[in-house]
Amino acid sequence: MGPAPFIPPDTREFILPTNRLRDRVMHETGIVQSIIDILEQQAAMYHAKKIVRVNLEFGVLTAVMPDAIRFAFDILSKGTIAENAVLDIKMIPIKILCPECNAEHTLDAYQPLCPVCESPAVLIVEGRDEMRIASMEVDDGEG
Ligand SMILES: [Zn+2]
Repeated sequence: MGPAPFIPPDTREFILPTNRLRDRVMHETGIVQSIIDILEQQAAMYHAKKIVRVNLEFGVLTAVMPDAIRFAFDILSKGTIAENAVLDIKMIPIKILCPECNAEHTLDAYQPLCPVCESPAVLIVEGRDEMRIASMEVDDGEG
């Protein structure tokens, strides 16, 4: 091990993305903790012994990273009823409705204008802030 690298003060801006990455991981961690809380409540309600599989859905515009969700889930589910559950993560594509030309479009990436008539009055009807547990499979210990 050599000495720690010297970082001159004027490179601080280059260090910033690391902090952003940490913020991102914190973001996903918070989401996953909420999901596990809900799963535990649901499992208790149905007297489940184990959660086997969980289907999650996120709108594309939540900017959630599935790999980060899986990473956080592996850590946070340890010792809970959801430990070792298989995660299915579906990203819901952006769907917009244009009131000018009445067209509905599914977009790969967000764009503020209608792709047909270029109206700025488009409504985002799907793929926005959805974060949901679509379904889960449980083992009730009887089979
Ligand atoms: Zn339009």
